[in-house]
Amino acid sequence: MITSLLIANRGEIACRVIRTARAMGIRTVAVYSDADANALHVRQADEAVHIGPSPARESYLVGDKIIAAAKATGAEAIHPGYGFLSENAAFAQAVMDVGLVWVGPMPASITAMGLKDAAKKLMRDAGVPTTPGYLGENQDPDRLKAEADAIGYPVLIKAVAGGGGKGMRRVDAGQDFADALLSCQREAASSFGDDRVLIEKYILSPRHLEVQVFGDKHGNIVHLFERDCSLQRRHQKVIEEAPAPGMDEATREAICGAAVRAAQAVDYVGAGTIEFIADASEGLRADRIWFMEMNTRLQVEHPVTEEITGQDLVEWQLRVASGEPLPKKQDELSINGWSVEARLYAEDPAKGFLPSVGRLDYLALPNSERIETGVEERDTISPFYDPMIAKVVSWGETRKDAIAGLANACGTIECEPVKTNAWFLKRLLESGEFADGNVTTGFIGEHIDSLCEAPQPSNALLQYAADDLAFRGEHMLDKWGSPLFELTRARFGFRLNAPAARQVRMSVDSQPADVEVGDHALWYDTRRTSVQDGRKTIYFEDGAAFVVEPDRTEGKGGAGASDGSILSPMPGRIVSVDVTEGQTVTKGQKLVVLEAMKMEQALIAPFDGKVVELKAVAGAQVAEGVTLVRVEKSE
Ligand code: ADP
Ligand code: ADP
Ligand code: MG
Repeated sequence: MITSLLIANRGEIACRVIRTARAMGIRTVAVYSDADANALHVRQADEAVHIGPSPARESYLVGDKIIAAAKATGAEAIHPGYGFLSENAAFAQAVMDVGLVWVGPMPASITAMGLKDAAKKLMRDAGVPTTPGYLGENQDPDRLKAEADAIGYPVLIKAVAGGGGKGMRRVDAGQDFADALLSCQREAASSFGDDRVLIEKYILSPRHLEVQVFGDKHGNIVHLFERDCSLQRRHQKVIEEAPAPGMDEATREAICGAAVRAAQAVDYVGAGTIEFIADASEGLRADRIWFMEMNTRLQVEHPVTEEITGQDLVEWQLRVASGEPLPKKQDELSINGWSVEARLYAEDPAKGFLPSVGRLDYLALPNSERIETGVEERDTISPFYDPMIAKVVSWGETRKDAIAGLANACGTIECEPVKTNAWFLKRLLESGEFADGNVTTGFIGEHIDSLCEAPQPSNALLQYAADDLAFRGEHMLDKWGSPLFELTRARFGFRLNAPAARQVRMSVDSQPADVEVGDHALWYDTRRTSVQDGRKTIYFEDGAAFVVEPDRTEGKGGAGASDGSILSPMPGRIVSVDVTEGQTVTKGQKLVVLEAMKMEQALIAPFDGKVVELKAVAGAQVAEGVTLVRVEKSE
């Protein structure tokens, strides 16, 4: 067994690997960039090596620096985690060339599965059903169009080198093909340095199923059953579960068997995932499930498999890399209960999923469920990497229990001032369609408006907040010596006698709110927590945070004007400016598109109004917090 391990990654997966390694008595070495100098994975590892500046391409993606760090610290093996160098065959080879143990498959297996077209050919030859389509031998646009016509619309254009949900375009009709092809090729070239594409039949009523496989260096390969990852946004997984709802034994045997054949075809060693797409229009049927791709690494959603099988997959990886046989044989593995995972992101679903970077001044994660995280309170979500805060993983005897546990847990997540998608996750988990177990990958997109509608505080919360403000206003003076809050006399609610005095004016998320003060005891709810930040009180409810401040402004105006300033939420580049000065805009209208954190983000008008100031210039780099546009509210 290896005795020391360098983890060539960061965040929650680095912490996850360290946990198991430590339990196995293996010494751990972390690597870190400038931005991660004080990160949790660095604090947790036995040793840590600085490998460069914050951008991943200057640190986590530089294989030579990582290998040098392993040499310098005497680490015996390298675990790549996922993302970064995990599916880089040249890196795997370089690791082995210097005599280190690579915790992953052989470089040849990575290469065989690395490009989607080559992988599909290989699978076809191995007798694994693949998604119907054209594998792109000839990349001439007219030829590609002719193939798409022959396949029949809708089709999906996919970058052969694609990953992470990027480089894909659905095309519904022939006349849209040329444009979609160009934009797909452009994205593929800039993201993967390879603009080749393949074309697939777009499967209707699609469900994403995948099978966890594992191989050892003695030629054994097993599967650890399937997962369902159909809840996706823009082809990226949001909620995953195991097993798949509606899966009967015969279908399970068919797809798990196909997955094992796929792994055998590339002499697979270590943890891998075979991804399939299913046409679920008539439930899951073995003859309507096709191979999509293989991920030759541990998967983000591996915990749900661990939960239902009782196995530690990182331990399996380390044992296999050390040359041991697989810890279990196929007939020793079985499914126990149900597990669901939700990816908690630092982003605001109500603002087009805009990443929300910054310091996690306040963070409370549920202790009722398994948490995989790479941050703690007071750590920072930096703009350089994936803005995931944590994965929340539940287990239950039944699917219903597992979902309910996770929904409740998401509802108790408290984070401030960084915005999270916790309330969005809770809404998803509580939707009737998800409960029925037959959502397709289009579900989030089809319900995006209602799922993303900004959460509103409940009346109970508002009244509690107003009463609390009034109570504190009575006892506290602000720094100028005047009562923090003026309408305090109504605290004990002379409901019938003094109606005017019971109106408390405050602001909730900078919007004025007039609330009647009630009886403190009546609204007191021990489940409702809040934190105090100067004059602000932040209340948490159902995974959302509401900032309440005493508000003494008279009437409207004043505050409204400053609300209309659209600031750059993070450093980035202005891709386009979609309005002109003086233009009338409507709430939600796109004003400016900013490219930051590898994603394009539309900044939108907060309300109906007029563009009174326009500072944004297309192509310009902007720092965080710079005013780009100012919209004045129309009366
Ligand atoms: P998975 O099914 O494991 O999510 P994907 O193909 O969707 O697989 O994603 C590839 C991996 O790359 C994921 O594990 C994801 O967390 C990671 N990843 C994606 N974007 C980034 C990023 N900006 N920085 C670091 N890792 C990333
Ligand atoms: P990536 O490497 O980015 O993960 P995949 O090929 O695994 O790319 O596809 C990502 C997602 O896109 C799938 O999970 C699925 O939701 C959707 N998808 C892929 N291929 C098809 C298809 N042929 N029909 C319908 N949806 C598809
Ligand atoms: Mg995939």
